[in-house]
Amino acid sequence: MTEFREQAIQFAAEKKEQFLADLIEIVNIPSISNSKENKGDMISAANWIAEYLKNIGVNHVQVLPTAGHPVVVGDYLIDPTFMTILIYGHYDVQPVEPLDLWHTPPFELTQKDDYIFGRGTSDMKGQMIACFAAVEAAIKTGGLKVNLKFILEGEEEIGSPNLAAFIREHKDLLASNIVLNPDTGMVGKEIPAITYGLRGLAYFEIKVTGPDHDLHSGLFGGIVHNPAQALSEAIAAMHDQDGRVTLPGFYDDVRIMDESERAELARLPISDADYLNQTGVPALWGEKGYTPIERLGARPTLEVNGIYSGFIGEGQKTVLPSYAMAKISCRLVPNQSHEKVYQQLLAFLQEKMPPTVKWEAKKLSGGAPLLIDPNQPTTLAFANALETVFGVKPVLKLEGGSVPVTTDLQEILGVQSILTGFSCPEDNVHSPNEKFHLPTFYKGIDTIIHFLYNVG
Ligand SMILES: [Zn+2]
Repeated sequence: MTEFREQAIQFAAEKKEQFLADLIEIVNIPSISNSKENKGDMISAANWIAEYLKNIGVNHVQVLPTAGHPVVVGDYLIDPTFMTILIYGHYDVQPVEPLDLWHTPPFELTQKDDYIFGRGTSDMKGQMIACFAAVEAAIKTGGLKVNLKFILEGEEEIGSPNLAAFIREHKDLLASNIVLNPDTGMVGKEIPAITYGLRGLAYFEIKVTGPDHDLHSGLFGGIVHNPAQALSEAIAAMHDQDGRVTLPGFYDDVRIMDESERAELARLPISDADYLNQTGVPALWGEKGYTPIERLGARPTLEVNGIYSGFIGEGQKTVLPSYAMAKISCRLVPNQSHEKVYQQLLAFLQEKMPPTVKWEAKKLSGGAPLLIDPNQPTTLAFANALETVFGVKPVLKLEGGSVPVTTDLQEILGVQSILTGFSCPEDNVHSPNEKFHLPTFYKGIDTIIHFLYNVG
């Protein structure tokens, strides 16, 4: 086994230039999923990937349609008694605007010192090619004791609207034991990471109505409860002085971290000053008793996303508005449910809203939080591969946002994901001048090779 592993690493080392040339080709296809003008490029990118997979020895490669952009699938099955890894990736990229802030053309991969610049280099064509390169090295070398399957989607950057339906429709094709999703990142160039939790989301809209039309504040001010004031008072009461959310029962189902987990999170080399720099705020805020890293990953939140009422044009107008609206969202953590939080919001409003106004609260969407066991054998095999290549134990981290595909795969196929990746915080993903650290790209290839032989 050791011999195969070393040969595969050797193979990858010899093909470095070729792998970079491959990456240039795919980065140069402007596969922007949210743009109608790039529909043809989306198809070109999907076909390019299909050809690529066939060329490296992947079988049953297909470009399958969805209601949106196509999905590329394929497999490399050796023995039904071996475990099967489903490798996930997305070939779509974010739009490039504002174009004038780019120092190099976004769809012309440009190398400068240790960095390659271009849209999608870091998110995530670089990581996708790293996976393919590792698979090629392992297939050409042999000695694998694991089956591989592939799913490459083209709609990640627009929220994967058709992926759940696709997974449901192709359950057998995608049946596997674990998903490798290299679409999250490292903490820094030298510090690899594995993400073991994602927050869910509950999104609400509240409307408070007072008079049945806008009133003159001179004629009616003082006898009518202003709905903007009533709504503001309710919103202000949604947090207490310790920054805790006051919806009744909000924390009842929140998973409690043990001391070892808190110690592990404390290893993350991120300070309050980093957050101050990233945000430009004069001071941080949040729930008392928890560090910013804990508050971002392991604690739930309630945010006001928008407030609307009355006259917001230039100048002045003495209006007593008829209604006020707010968009409120909660980031949820295990084991909260968005439906339960909706009921808690309704109970809160029931209690707090005065009889002088009418109100309604709608739930616009909900997504479940996710916790992945970081001690399952395949995740440990990946952690081990990272440690072999980077020379340090990867840190375990919680992500504050959500990755819908992970939840879909877990709910529909019943498989957990290894969430990891090789992008760095300074890569400007989704921003102008997106870049990828080339030495980390090559380390990524070696990591995945080690992982494939670790699992076998
Ligand atoms: Zn991505």
